[in-house]
Amino acid sequence: MKEAMYYEPSEHGMVLCNLCPRNCVIPEGLTGFCGVRKNISGKLYALTYEMVTSIAIDPIEKKPLYHFYPGTRTMSIGTFGCNMRCKHCQNWDISHQTATESSNGMSRLQPKELIRLTKEKGCGALAWTYNEPSIWFEYLLETAKLAKKEGILTVMVTSGMINQPPLKELIGHIDAYRLDIKGFTEKFYKDLTGKAILNNVLENALLAYRAGSHLEIITNVIPNWNDSDEHFDGLSKWIVKNLSKETPWHLTAYYPNNKLTEPPTPTSTLERGMEIGLENGLEYIYIGNIPGHTGQNTVCPKCKSMLVNRIGFGVTENHIVKGRCDSCGHEIKSYKGKDFPSEINTNPHPERVM
Ligand code: SF4
Repeated sequence: MKEAMYYEPSEHGMVLCNLCPRNCVIPEGLTGFCGVRKNISGKLYALTYEMVTSIAIDPIEKKPLYHFYPGTRTMSIGTFGCNMRCKHCQNWDISHQTATESSNGMSRLQPKELIRLTKEKGCGALAWTYNEPSIWFEYLLETAKLAKKEGILTVMVTSGMINQPPLKELIGHIDAYRLDIKGFTEKFYKDLTGKAILNNVLENALLAYRAGSHLEIITNVIPNWNDSDEHFDGLSKWIVKNLSKETPWHLTAYYPNNKLTEPPTPTSTLERGMEIGLENGLEYIYIGNIPGHTGQNTVCPKCKSMLVNRIGFGVTENHIVKGRCDSCGHEIKSYKGKDFPSEINTNPHPERVM
């Protein structure tokens, strides 16, 4: 554990955590909402610093990031806790437990050791994922700084609920954000995510975009919750207006999980969302969690030829050359990567590390 950043003493031995918009006031001996930041004798400690529950080598396509160094092997790590309580969380067994409840099964990995392992395994990128990384702030910041010094790309898979001062401190050290915009109403966030705040997430997406970070947006589409035409229309228009028409938007199928019992998302719903987003001007919309669907491929928005063909998490063809379509020369502005086949992903399957 390590003394936390972004907190201040409050009255009667309590502390005020300023890391995320919940701004928990935490009495002595207790943790905040996320379960991993604890008041010990009037100081706030990050209990999960250096504590890892999950570590694996994933294809970057599994994050999913489709416009960021396709085929890159990504050292992916996570710990416990989350500052949301999504009823449909897929990783609830690690994200909805506190560090105190869950100290069994955790490995300790110092920042330098993580960087050494990332290099030793030939990974081009390091991703904080599986649970919400922003509440792992101290470890994330320290390891991201070391990664940048070693030329390793850094990826944050996040729900985006963090206050702006800590996000600004992180931003220069993170190359790519895969950011959830889970729904497009405050009511959705209030009812489904444990009273998280949509506006905070949108402001953080804007901050990351304006800072020049690579950004891909994901929305897990859930029947009866965020699958209406109004939802697809409102969110896709917001992305076009505030980010750009080139920002990738991933629409993924939901499957019943945790506390939510709605049936799985029909493929036709995702296709309707894609159609509405394309009509509103978005150029790169992907359909995910539907094996074999052609909506996981990248198509040139100008000449409609196939740019990147994906099977599962693997890339089998990439026709983006020097950032342009090799058929018509159209610039793929939101794409970062080297030319194929230098980055061909020969092992599209996740690989356990520890
Ligand atoms: S990071 Fe955790 S303790 Fe801090 S305000 Fe957010 S939920 Fe509360």
